[in-house]
Amino acid sequence: KNMSSVSIPPPECLKKRLVVPQRHMFGPGPSNVPPRILQAGAQPVIGHMHPETFEIMADIKRGLQYLFQTQNRMTLAVSGTGHSAMECAIFNTVEPGDGVLVAVNGVWGERAADMAERIGARVNTVVAPPGGYLTNADIEKALSRHKPVLFFLAHGESSTGVLHPLDGIGELCHKYNCLFLVDSVASIGGTPLYMDQQGIDILYTGSQKVLNAPPGTAPISFSERACYKVFNRTGKPVSFFLDLSWLANYWGCDDKPARVYHHTGPVTAFYSLRESLAVLAEEGLENSWERHKKAAEYFHAGLESMGLKLFVKEKHARLPTVTTIVAPHGYDWKEITSYIMKTHNLEISGGLGPSVGLVLRVGLMGCNSSKANVDMVLAALRDALKHCHRSKV
Ligand code: PMP
Repeated sequence: KNMSSVSIPPPECLKKRLVVPQRHMFGPGPSNVPPRILQAGAQPVIGHMHPETFEIMADIKRGLQYLFQTQNRMTLAVSGTGHSAMECAIFNTVEPGDGVLVAVNGVWGERAADMAERIGARVNTVVAPPGGYLTNADIEKALSRHKPVLFFLAHGESSTGVLHPLDGIGELCHKYNCLFLVDSVASIGGTPLYMDQQGIDILYTGSQKVLNAPPGTAPISFSERACYKVFNRTGKPVSFFLDLSWLANYWGCDDKPARVYHHTGPVTAFYSLRESLAVLAEEGLENSWERHKKAAEYFHAGLESMGLKLFVKEKHARLPTVTTIVAPHGYDWKEITSYIMKTHNLEISGGLGPSVGLVLRVGLMGCNSSKANVDMVLAALRDALKHCHRSKV
C-alpha cells in the first residue's frame, strides 16, 4: 500500500444530507430565529474589513446603544457567545490581586466568580438562595466590607428565573469606587433596563435570546469609568482575543485613524444581529417589554390554575423571559421534558446548577413571547402531567 495515502476514510455519515428539524424553542435559549433574521444571515460572505461590513457594524453599534439605552462609545459585539462577553468584561477590567465582589443567586454568579478567580482576582461573594435576590442593604454591606473594584450581578438569573432589581445599585457601587457589571443575557429587550440611568458600567448580553438571532455574537458596552480602568491597567489582559483595545479598534470605537486586523469577524452572524436589532427598533423597546410582561402574566396565571407552583414567590422578581416552575411532585422532571419534546416537538428544560431537580424552565423570548405560544406550552404541560409516570408517594 502507498505510504502517502490517507488512512482515515471519508466518513459515511457526511454522505447523508444535513437535516435539521423545525422545533418550538421554548427553553431558556436559544429561542426561535424568524425567517427574516435567518435570511439576513444567508447573505453572501464579504470581507470582515470591507467598508460595507464596517457600515453594518456601525449600524449594530447604534442598535445596541438603543437596546442598552446608553450613549457609550465603547459599544460593540464580541465574536462568541454570552460566555465570551462575560470573560471580556472580567478579563479587561480586573487585574491580578484586584478585589471582585459577585452576587450569587444562581449559576451565573458562580461562573463569574470562577472566571475572576482564574485571573488571580480576590473574589468574595454575597449570596442569596436560589429563587431569591439581594437587597441593596446586603450589597452595600458587602461593598463596604470588601472594597472591590468590580461588582457582578445577573439581571436575569436564567437558572432560577429571578429578575434582580437594579435601582440604586449603580449609585452604591460608585459610592465605594467600584464598577458595576451586569449580565443581561436572559433579560434585555424583554424587561426594562437603562444602562446609563441605572449607573451600569459594563453590560453584556447574547444574540440568541430576546433578540432571536442565532447564537454566536455577544453585545457588550463599557462606560467611560470602565474604560478608564481598562486603559490604565499595569499589565495586558490575559486574553489576546478579548483584549478591549483590539476590539475597540475593530469596532471603530477608538481614536486610531485606521483599523487593524485582529480576528475574522463572523460577518454572517453580524448580518443576523443587525436584522434582529432592526426588528426590535421597529417594534420599539417599550412595546417589547409590555408584550413580554403580558405574556408572562398570562402564562403564570395559567400555570397556577393548573395547580403548578412558580419557583419565584415574589411577583415583581419573576423574569418575564424565563419562567421557573416548581418541579411537579411525584414526577421525574426528565420524563416530562422528554415527553414534551417527543410528543409536542417543543423544548422546555430542567434546572441548571443550583436549580437542578427543583424546577422546569420555560423561555418565551422575543418573537416567541405570545399568548398563542403560552397556550401551546400550557397544553403540552397538561398533556405531560396526564401521561407521564406519577409515583404515589
Ligand atoms: N448569562 C445568562 C443569564 C444566561 O442565561 C446565559 C445563557 N444561558 C449566559 C450568561 C451564557 O450565554 P452563552 O450560553 O451564550 O455563552
